[in-house]
Amino acid sequence: MPASRAVLFFAGWAALLAQPRAPFNESIRRGDLEADLSFLASDSLRGRLTGTAEYLTAARFLEARFRRLGLQPLGESFFHTFSLTYSRLQPGNRLQVKRGEALRTEAGLSEDFYPLFFSPSAEARGPVVFAGYGIRAPQLEWDDLGGNGMDQRLALILGGEPGAEDPRSRFDGLVTSIHADPLRKALALQEHGAAGVLIVNPADSANGVRRFAGGARGYWPEKPPHLERYALSAWAERLHIPVAQISPALAQSLLGSRRLADVVKQAEKAPWTPSLLPGAEIDLRVRLSRHVIEDRNVVAKIEGADPALKQESILVTAHYDHNGAEDGQIYNGADDNGSGTVGLLEIAEAYALAAQQGQRPRRSLVFVAWGSEERCCGPLLGAWAWTENPPWPLDKTVAVLNMDMIGRDEEVPENRGPRFHGLSPQTAASNANAVNVLGFSFNAALAEAARHANRAADLLLRFRYENNKSNLLRRSDHWVFLQAGVPALWFHTGLHPDYHTPNDRPERIRYDKAEKVARLVHQLSWDLANRTEPLGKARRTVMPDVD
Ligand SMILES: [Zn+2]
Repeated sequence: MPASRAVLFFAGWAALLAQPRAPFNESIRRGDLEADLSFLASDSLRGRLTGTAEYLTAARFLEARFRRLGLQPLGESFFHTFSLTYSRLQPGNRLQVKRGEALRTEAGLSEDFYPLFFSPSAEARGPVVFAGYGIRAPQLEWDDLGGNGMDQRLALILGGEPGAEDPRSRFDGLVTSIHADPLRKALALQEHGAAGVLIVNPADSANGVRRFAGGARGYWPEKPPHLERYALSAWAERLHIPVAQISPALAQSLLGSRRLADVVKQAEKAPWTPSLLPGAEIDLRVRLSRHVIEDRNVVAKIEGADPALKQESILVTAHYDHNGAEDGQIYNGADDNGSGTVGLLEIAEAYALAAQQGQRPRRSLVFVAWGSEERCCGPLLGAWAWTENPPWPLDKTVAVLNMDMIGRDEEVPENRGPRFHGLSPQTAASNANAVNVLGFSFNAALAEAARHANRAADLLLRFRYENNKSNLLRRSDHWVFLQAGVPALWFHTGLHPDYHTPNDRPERIRYDKAEKVARLVHQLSWDLANRTEPLGKARRTVMPDVD
């Protein structure tokens, strides 16, 4: 390192070391975390499921606490509201394949096709164009929709994304990227002039016809599912063309002499040029009833002290929803994510106490309890609703610090099963003082700031799972902000055998550890709110090694 840079380097460290301990950091106490969690994760809140009375009770509790702490709302209310859409299958869904004048074959509902939950009730008729994965991602130099537009024909596309098993894939390596989302694909195809969309999953083709029919019947069960499928209404309302999943057998019949497996291989390698499939026309009709519910994030702020910098914010966040109760069993969600939610309350309180003493950070702090993080499909609905219509401008958001599961020790059993897909076996004892930090590969300066803030908390920070088959990187709300270019970190003590089971209960939480993590996040948020050097944007320049 040249001398001049070395001097700057040490000067930078001296400035960092001079940063004071965040005021009232010690006010974040395990006893307070436990008291709040004993309510939020109690049986009486019945697992805080989206759309239930108990979920609303949790939101009102958080609102009341923000208010009592003397925090301010963003705008009129502590609630940032948004709408979710869900659907029910109605009579009249139909898919016909027409070859020549006389020959019409009827595809069986739940045998060869089924409408996707976010599809509008709509019809499409015409020839079919195959468009590879149906992905338009110019920033990644990938476009399957090139050329002249779909010209009101139906698009047949592959589900997922190319290179799903390739750690060096431009589509987020082993992590499933945003571009695999079927609703996003359908909107892009609509914009490109498609009259309707048919999706075939390449994995279904590998596993045979029977597997498709089994999955298809489960997709629209007779009895409404315990965990409803929701789409952000703002997105669903934009879609006007019908979208259906089809079987590999039906896709093969549309492809004619080209084998589906060969087409998949080719579409993996390079962007597809849309090609007309001769000989067949499709008549698709989707009939679903749509229902809308209101949902909410709970939001509060502490205004910064610097007249100019207070326009910028640090977001401290945690989702408050979980998976409800079913068949007499309550999914309390104490770790997931009662723990992060009560951590959020303690951090907000530390800022409120400091403000009462006239100690405010230079930038503003925004505290967000996300709604509907857990809800399929895709999840993170509260965070998506935020970026869709940001209550605080994204370009004035310096960083997002997200807590989701901060109260246990990561434990991956030897015979780990699908829940732990992609993770190596490890004992709880080996992670007793550890917390995973995800999102670090998108902004090196933020990762460094986290290391520095840890000097008092003295946790073992594990920077891992950034390019991992578990898909952990995209499994909490910070991920939405990374997609928008906002630097974000997720603090996460890891999966364990009680994850998403009725055993995720408050008495199993390590409150001493949750206290340490919340103090770390508080310290980091304070450091960032007072920071002089710019952090810059979130961008993955180098794909991290598989971990
Ligand atoms: Zn969670």
